[in-house]
Amino acid sequence: MRTQPNIIVTGTPGVGKTTHCETLAQNTGLKHLSINDIVKERGCHDGYDEEFKSWIVDEDKLLDSIEDEVKQGGYIIDWHACDLFPKSWIDLVVVLRVDSTLLYDRLKARDYPEVKLQENLDSEIMEVLLQEARDSYDEEIVVELTSNTSDDMESNIERIETWIAHWKENNAGNA
Ligand code: ADP
Repeated sequence: MRTQPNIIVTGTPGVGKTTHCETLAQNTGLKHLSINDIVKERGCHDGYDEEFKSWIVDEDKLLDSIEDEVKQGGYIIDWHACDLFPKSWIDLVVVLRVDSTLLYDRLKARDYPEVKLQENLDSEIMEVLLQEARDSYDEEIVVELTSNTSDDMESNIERIETWIAHWKENNAGNA
């Protein structure tokens, strides 16, 4: 039984996951688990894809590597996929969304290769991550939030913090 919740913050690269997670971690004391960093630091990959400029993730190795930590609770998981994490680990799935013109600008600023940029834009327009979240978790724990502006971000953070406070109240008996 967890005394602190586990939250996934997911969405297409560039939607604002890391920015949201860092602020949430600062404000709430939950730990920001950047899967990107874990994959690199703990070698949970099968090499590097030069065309896409990204690591080829070994999901089994990744899950083995984070299982003991995450099962204790209190993690904000930052990753552009969510279907790999067991349902029993997760209390809330936040899917961030952004307008495609804004996403284009954000990814362009990152110097993404054209093929990667286009694939991510398509993915956002086709709602791939939202669908993945809805297919993988109970619908009542999946929330879709807009991340176009800093005002959006502020209200998202507030909403998630309120949710965390309620979760803790409702699960106070777990200790
Ligand atoms: P991700 O982790 O999803 O790839 P980041 O958090 O790295 O996305 O954000 C990508 C860029 O977009 C950063 O420069 C960040 O400052 C900006 N950004 C993210 N969310 C917002 C937002 N809601 N309003 C304005 N800028 C944002």
